[in-house]
Amino acid sequence: MSMQAQTCPACGGTIREDHVHMSLWKGERLIVIEDVPAAVCEQCHEQYYDDFTRYRIERLGENGFPVADAQRVLEVPVFSLDAVPIPQQEPAETDEEASVWQPDWSDFYETG
Ligand SMILES: [Zn+2]
Repeated sequence: MSMQAQTCPACGGTIREDHVHMSLWKGERLIVIEDVPAAVCEQCHEQYYDDFTRYRIERLGENGFPVADAQRVLEVPVFSLDAVPIPQQEPAETDEEASVWQPDWSDFYETG
């Protein structure tokens, strides 16, 4: 899709151009690609990439992301839902569809 598009095809929200960090799992390895140009929906946070960016991402991954080619290596904290006790009462129901639900961490997404 074009970077000039202004409405999110997924939810109808407003899209703005930005740079994002992509993360993807390759088996047990977590890969991060920094500063990827993307059109980002302000409402559902869906990210859209133009054709040239997709091409570059595909070329970058062709060799399976060897560590020797990485710009740097991050140490990443890993969490488990097991740390959160099951509440005595059922949480209030939300009318949001499970597929579009996002945690209410606005600040988290702002940092890109
Ligand atoms: Zn959206």
